[in-house]
Amino acid sequence: MIEIKCILCGDKQRTSILFKKSFSRRDINKTVFSARRNPDSVHYQINKCERCGMVFSSPVISSGNILKLYKNSKFNYQDKAHLLSKTYLTYLRKKTKYSQKSRILDIGCGNGFFLKEIFAKGNKNIYGVELSKDAVSKASKNIKDRIKLTPLKKNIYRNDSFDLITCFHTLDHVIDPNNFMKTVFNYLKPKGQVFFIVHDVKGLSVKVFGEKSPIFDIEHIFLFNENTLKKLFLKNEFRNIKTFKIRNSYSFYDWLISSPFPLKIKKPISAFLKTTGIGKMMLHLKAGNIGIIASKRYQPKRLGKKVAKR
Ligand SMILES: [Zn+2]
Repeated sequence: MIEIKCILCGDKQRTSILFKKSFSRRDINKTVFSARRNPDSVHYQINKCERCGMVFSSPVISSGNILKLYKNSKFNYQDKAHLLSKTYLTYLRKKTKYSQKSRILDIGCGNGFFLKEIFAKGNKNIYGVELSKDAVSKASKNIKDRIKLTPLKKNIYRNDSFDLITCFHTLDHVIDPNNFMKTVFNYLKPKGQVFFIVHDVKGLSVKVFGEKSPIFDIEHIFLFNENTLKKLFLKNEFRNIKTFKIRNSYSFYDWLISSPFPLKIKKPISAFLKTTGIGKMMLHLKAGNIGIIASKRYQPKRLGKKVAKR
């Protein structure tokens, strides 16, 4: 197991334990590392940095082992992908400078469900990276060759080459977010934008369910709130940072199934939802996701001016 430090404070961190670890060795398997599953409250020790409010898992298994687990994980949320794409596209149009000409990279793109939507609307400049072999194998034919089976790292694309980099529910899983953000920064064109979505550690799901909230999960290393998320982007040279709460749309039935209520409560309610037809109705909730938009800091070449001053 390796110790994780606060990514904002480093050695100056002042940590306290929020929740004790709740897993055993046998919980560390590829099923637990496949994104969508029934909430099972399997998590590492959850710590909070009292200096900055960052919440994080520590100690965690090695990054080599984590990568192996994701490589073999299953892509198991195909039936929800269209709802997710719809949500992501709405915010993309509303909040970013995205146009049909934007060269776009989606990190942790799964089977490319979001890229596929953009492609279908006429943008052919789409690229993705993804760890899960299963997810990439399920990508549609016309976009499969745009997806690289790799973690995000240096030298897989040219620097300064993307107008927009998106990353949905992946940053929370990254063991070294500062390094991750540096790589993202380098791949962006000057003035390029990022659009990320992460879980909100101050969101509704944590307020209602506490430790039972599905965001306290062995897959998550760092859990952000709007403030700590902003600080991470600021620390890594991003500017024009804006955060906002994401409204997700699922059926009543899906909200219930993904909630951590005990089975004896879930069963009668789901039977009621089924017989009344209410289960299929859509419910739009800000249940605990944060969106963030930020720009690469534009660095004008000021060398000439400095020389002139002297
Ligand atoms: Zn801290």
